[in-house]
Amino acid sequence: MPWTSSDVTAPGEAVSKEPEGADKQAPNGGQPEGQKRKKIVVVGLGMVGIAFIEKLLKLDAKRREYDVVVIGEEPHLAYNRVGLTSFFQHRKVENLYLNPEEWYGGHPDGSLNYHVNTLATEIKPEEKVVLTSDGKSVSYDYLVLATGSDALLPRHTPGHDAKGVFVYRTIDDLQKLIEYSGKVKGSTGCVVGGGLLGLEAAKA
Ligand SMILES: Cc1cc2nc3c(=O)[nH]c(=O)nc-3n(C[C@H](O)[C@H](O)[C@H](O)COP(=O)(O)OP(=O)(O)OC[C@H]3O[C@@H](n4cnc5c(N)ncnc54)[C@H](O)[C@@H]3O)c2cc1C
Repeated sequence: MPWTSSDVTAPGEAVSKEPEGADKQAPNGGQPEGQKRKKIVVVGLGMVGIAFIEKLLKLDAKRREYDVVVIGEEPHLAYNRVGLTSFFQHRKVENLYLNPEEWYGGHPDGSLNYHVNTLATEIKPEEKVVLTSDGKSVSYDYLVLATGSDALLPRHTPGHDAKGVFVYRTIDDLQKLIEYSGKVKGSTGCVVGGGLLGLEAAKA
């Protein structure tokens, strides 16, 4: 989704930019006239980030006190990582989406803006802005970091970075694994790590 003027702020611009129309009385007992909507920036469009946003939008539906901007590094909308292994069967990213694309656009104007393929590269708490990989400066009133974790590579093990070694955490990881395994058909795969995920990966 393209950045809107209420998402980004020029460097040095005051924080808490008021979205257009924020001072109008919302119907059905919305927040009082003249009161600015607070802006919540969520970094990480993963399972926790989206659960937080869903809950917030639901609880705030009447009063409309908050606008949310979510910044996600991955190229996909929030997906069910727990069900990642099923991707081997269907190969359809959309099947894993926790909400269809239309859901993201189906909220009152300005209450949810999302940006995929975008890495939050720096937080400037004094200015209350987040800088992004596409050169934007995003102001916030509240910042939520829902950045999850990364697969831990056994860096002490020689060869951990050899060609044909993959981690198992994102759709991207699986796409790379599928592409590579297509080129080495008939060879044997080896899973290092015999925990729940290791066993799941081995079965897949
Ligand atoms: C194959 C597999 C099976 C699993 N099965 C289970 C299960 O059965 N039960 C269970 O409880 N858990 C399971 N898990 C674990 C579960 O998926 C995680 O606990 C859950 O996804 C954590 O959610 P999260 O939002 O904290 O992190 P994530 O889902 O990892 O989301 C974090 C997001 O933030 C993004 N991000 C990080 N840094 C930045 C940045 N600087 N800027 C922008 N975006 C950023 C990441 O790219 C990512 O998209 C499984 C995990 C895997 C990989």
